[in-house]
Amino acid sequence: MMRYYLAGNFVLKRLETPSLYNISNDELYELDETAFEFLKKCARTEGCDAGGADKEFIGYCVSEGVLSAERQSKSFTQFIPLKLSFCGPSLRYLELQITDKCNLKCKHCYIDQGAGNELPVEIIRNVLDEFESMQGLRLLITGGEPLMRGDFGAVNALLPLYGFRKILFTNGLLLDKALLEKLNVDEIQFSVDGMEQGHDALRGKGTYKKVMRALEISLVSGITVSIATMVHSRNIGEFAVMEKLFRGMGIEDWTVDVPCVTGHLKHNTFFHVPADVAGQYLNYGFGGGIHGGGEGYACGLHLLSVLANGTVAKCAFYSHSPLGTVSEGLGKCREGLKPVKLESLQCAALSCRAIDSCRGGCRYRASIGPDMGAGEQTGRDIYKCFSYDIIKGNGS
Ligand code: SF4
Ligand code: SF4
Repeated sequence: MMRYYLAGNFVLKRLETPSLYNISNDELYELDETAFEFLKKCARTEGCDAGGADKEFIGYCVSEGVLSAERQSKSFTQFIPLKLSFCGPSLRYLELQITDKCNLKCKHCYIDQGAGNELPVEIIRNVLDEFESMQGLRLLITGGEPLMRGDFGAVNALLPLYGFRKILFTNGLLLDKALLEKLNVDEIQFSVDGMEQGHDALRGKGTYKKVMRALEISLVSGITVSIATMVHSRNIGEFAVMEKLFRGMGIEDWTVDVPCVTGHLKHNTFFHVPADVAGQYLNYGFGGGIHGGGEGYACGLHLLSVLANGTVAKCAFYSHSPLGTVSEGLGKCREGLKPVKLESLQCAALSCRAIDSCRGGCRYRASIGPDMGAGEQTGRDIYKCFSYDIIKGNGS
């Protein structure tokens, strides 16, 4: 009888519902229990015969590349719990700050001064093991500048062992063809903070040419490339040009955000853009994101951050109120994170018409208030209020 094997780029995940995740394109499909159990058998090295299975379903899976009749050279040893071990929302995204060292001193960086922390490789391995056992989907490898680590090769060597999508966040300065060939990631996200004039003003002279070179060789190599851009006073005239450029290059995911006035930006307030202006630029960008909440909940619902000193927090902005440390384990730390219900927000009390899509914006920005933390603390992310036209230019 014909045997079927789960294709190497697919993994099964037991999230709130049984699911199938395509690591290559970041797509997640809900399954019923019967389909999940059948695909689970196909995920074994020896595969599974079709006896008793729904032929139409098998045909569909084969046509979509989920199942193959050939044994897979690459398949993940999957840890699939019977049910989620933690009764809160699933942990899908993990920001892993492997170092807080950086080769740049960007004027807006939220890290005031990196203390030179680096997560030891053994700790990283433990964190990745636990993230996989918690059914994680996307690992975001951040810094500082991750490629600054002298032992980046050892971190990189761990990555193929895990069945989740790996995304490297970089300023691109240290990325060359030789390193690119060895990288075990599915996507590279470059920070590009404007066209040459705007980017170099924030990140340093000559950095635009370097990041664009790294971006181009990455695109040529075939790896997925995404871009993150911060709104600042020297790039606000460049967004239309950036959009045309990035779309023309085939970039599918462009994240645009406003930096919080913390870290370096507190000392470089010239780069700060007031909420009424900056909010308009949040409507640029395209593609997905990881910070969004789920239905009925505010941001960060499925996210956790591990910082380079071992602190675990809701996200990097919440390092001042940690959930614990890596030595306690991600699961234990996550138990301390209470999901924020939209109905509890001031946004709901004000009957905001945009609440279902905005979901209260960035709760950290909402907590510190607009305009360098000195403005009114309304409980709303005022930048988002301007982007959704909930607050007009006159502040109403
Ligand atoms: S507080 Fe802001 S940065 Fe943190 S998870 Fe929410 S949206 Fe993201
Ligand atoms: S637009 Fe403003 S009021 Fe509405 S949900 Fe977003 S932050 Fe809250």
